[in-house]
Amino acid sequence: MATNKVRRAFAALIPLIVTCAATAAIAATPASCPPTAGVALQILGSGGPIADDARASSGYLVWIDGIAVAMIDTGGGTFLRYGESGAKFTDLDFVGLSHFHTDHSADFPALLKSGSFSARERGLTVAGPGAGGPFPGLEAFLQSMLGKQHGAYGYLSAYLDGSGNLPLIDSVEIDVDKSDAVTVYSGAENKMQIDALPVPHGIVPALSFKVRAGDSSIVFASDQNGGSHDFVEFAQGADVLVMHMVVPEGVTGIGRRLHAPPSVIGDIAQEAGVDTLVLSHFMARSLRDLDTNIKIVKQHFDGRIILANDLDCIATN
Ligand SMILES: [Zn+2]
Repeated sequence: MATNKVRRAFAALIPLIVTCAATAAIAATPASCPPTAGVALQILGSGGPIADDARASSGYLVWIDGIAVAMIDTGGGTFLRYGESGAKFTDLDFVGLSHFHTDHSADFPALLKSGSFSARERGLTVAGPGAGGPFPGLEAFLQSMLGKQHGAYGYLSAYLDGSGNLPLIDSVEIDVDKSDAVTVYSGAENKMQIDALPVPHGIVPALSFKVRAGDSSIVFASDQNGGSHDFVEFAQGADVLVMHMVVPEGVTGIGRRLHAPPSVIGDIAQEAGVDTLVLSHFMARSLRDLDTNIKIVKQHFDGRIILANDLDCIATN
């Protein structure tokens, strides 16, 4: 009886040991955010849509010279991580919503409500995809959240109509039927430019984002199946490419239509010639496959690989 208990306890530890070994072998020690100078990526949420891994859903911050200026995705849990990161709503220039799955957008109104307590007056640029299938476009999403008449959080409608003293949202909705990259933000002061490019994610309209500042560039692939050559061009030469490793090799059906398997992730990173590939969007079930998946990625990509954890900070130079 006692022996069985020990066996069971040891068996439960094996995946943990494998995971830790894989992480230790690959991930560099992350810098702490914010760096005082330069451009850095901070992971707010390294998880996916399942609440079984102690990770927030998808979300990322870009810091420039110690200021968090851009947020990409606002999945559930990123509200908490945003506060833990020390970022300030008054500093935020841009929010990019890659698509309207909950694990990429659910904390957006919570972020705005938090920001309503700040002294911010200047507007906020928010970019997202146009409508497709059962999914709303950015404008309809904003109305469903913040609209004065029918919005779920209509008490925050001043973000949309300027009727109160809240910052006005400058929304940029991107037509996902076009395949060209579009500049969605260009800042004179911080010299940051952000471009968006539609990516294939099943029937879900979805965007990738590229943030450039100075000599640095960070590309956020978002959820996608890896089938767009335009995206490889878009990510060309990036210092950091963030890709979501959601499904195992050999996946078929809807899983494959939505997500890129490890070999495709590795091929994209290699072909784009990126310096660092950040793998993210984990869940308990994808973490079980982690060791195998990393081996496959490494067979296709010979650059640096970092496994994302919430609040990790990765400097671009
Ligand atoms: Zn997702």
